[in-house]
Amino acid sequence: MLLGCIADDFTGATDLASTLVRMGMRTVQVIGVPDGPLPEADAIVIALKSRTAPVGDAIAWSLAACDALLAGGARQIMFKICSTFDSTPAGNIGPVADALMKKLGAAFAIACPAFPTNGRTVFQGHLFVGHALLSESGMENHPLTPMTDANLVRVMAAQTEASVGLLPFVTVDQGAGAIRKALGALREQGRRYAIADAVTDAHLMALGEAIAQHPMLIGGSGIAMGLPENFRAAGLLPARDDAAALPAHVGHAAVLAGSCSRATLSQIGLARDHMPTLELDALATPDAAALAAQAITWLEGRIGAGPVLIAASAPPERVAALQAKLGREAAGVLLENALSEVAAHLVARGVRRLLVAGGETSGAVVQRLGVQSLRIGAEIDPGVPWTWAEGSGPAMHLALKSGNFGARDMFVKAFDHA
Ligand code: ADP
Repeated sequence: MLLGCIADDFTGATDLASTLVRMGMRTVQVIGVPDGPLPEADAIVIALKSRTAPVGDAIAWSLAACDALLAGGARQIMFKICSTFDSTPAGNIGPVADALMKKLGAAFAIACPAFPTNGRTVFQGHLFVGHALLSESGMENHPLTPMTDANLVRVMAAQTEASVGLLPFVTVDQGAGAIRKALGALREQGRRYAIADAVTDAHLMALGEAIAQHPMLIGGSGIAMGLPENFRAAGLLPARDDAAALPAHVGHAAVLAGSCSRATLSQIGLARDHMPTLELDALATPDAAALAAQAITWLEGRIGAGPVLIAASAPPERVAALQAKLGREAAGVLLENALSEVAAHLVARGVRRLLVAGGETSGAVVQRLGVQSLRIGAEIDPGVPWTWAEGSGPAMHLALKSGNFGARDMFVKAFDHA
């Protein structure tokens, strides 16, 4: 293993892992701090749920993840944060970075959340989301991590005792040599961190090249684009055209949908015409075990011929009605439990290709199936790769889709890929 990554949330971890695969590194995403040896890969991404956790927990988990990565041979550590620099008032980015730097004996690290493809750019230390400053992008109203200041130098400085500087656009735009020189100067001025400007992918590639020798970096998945080439240049990573290769698929196929996002509802609408589809009615049956039992009965004779789709998803008025009846959280948990139970049944009946729609829903299903790691394969649509899931159950193909991701025909075309 060459690159070890610690991601502060699950979908961010997948996003990073997919980026590394695209750039030629075989990558496995590990769920939580691993308790055994790490899987074989060029890069490992350990997915934590530390973004909004109490800061002491976030530090402890991140250090444990770092230990596991170092034990696995990691030569560089990346602390993967959100491309909108999501932080709580207690920080979590600053304190976790400080703890990792100390463990690694690192004197200096850059922080760069830029992800131009997704509209995240950093200019003069200020983070933009599309055309808007972070603090005017809607992120200022985020329920857990409101971002009211777009000046990342200030945001980071408020989270760490260490001194934070800026690596400005004019330098980054001149390429890796100029960046290296400027970083040296910042370090000599007593800075421990530098917020790095980046507006284009070329900037991210230059930054990646310039920090080849840094023990650690902090950033979104964009900055990872430039890292694999460093390992190739050092003769440590062969040129691979099969980084996304997964074991051949066997077994039956199914889709489980728990997201009520517009994209998912539209994907279900199209899939209905292509595969047997069951829509759970939690208003009529507000009981997870009973809903799962209905689905299991419906599945009799339907598993095997082609993909089947079971959806909890419903349009806003039905979601509101269920929430009014049960409460928002109880409604969510009920359907997550029902779908997880159905997932376990599907696997017991030989399903080995499963697509799950919905972030929370995916978390519940992964937990129920005992999945511990995901080897990242080719993307079905941007941000949604097929993966090879291993853990306490049988190994299988799993695709986990955050609600709004994917084209309308995703559920249908997914099974042409795996
Ligand atoms: P997304 O990625 O779109 O946010 P999630 O799976 O994270 O999707 O969240 C969707 C939540 O909505 C889950 O907790 C799920 O159980 C819940 N849910 C699914 N269907 C319904 C429904 N018909 N009524 C109320 N809540 C629902």
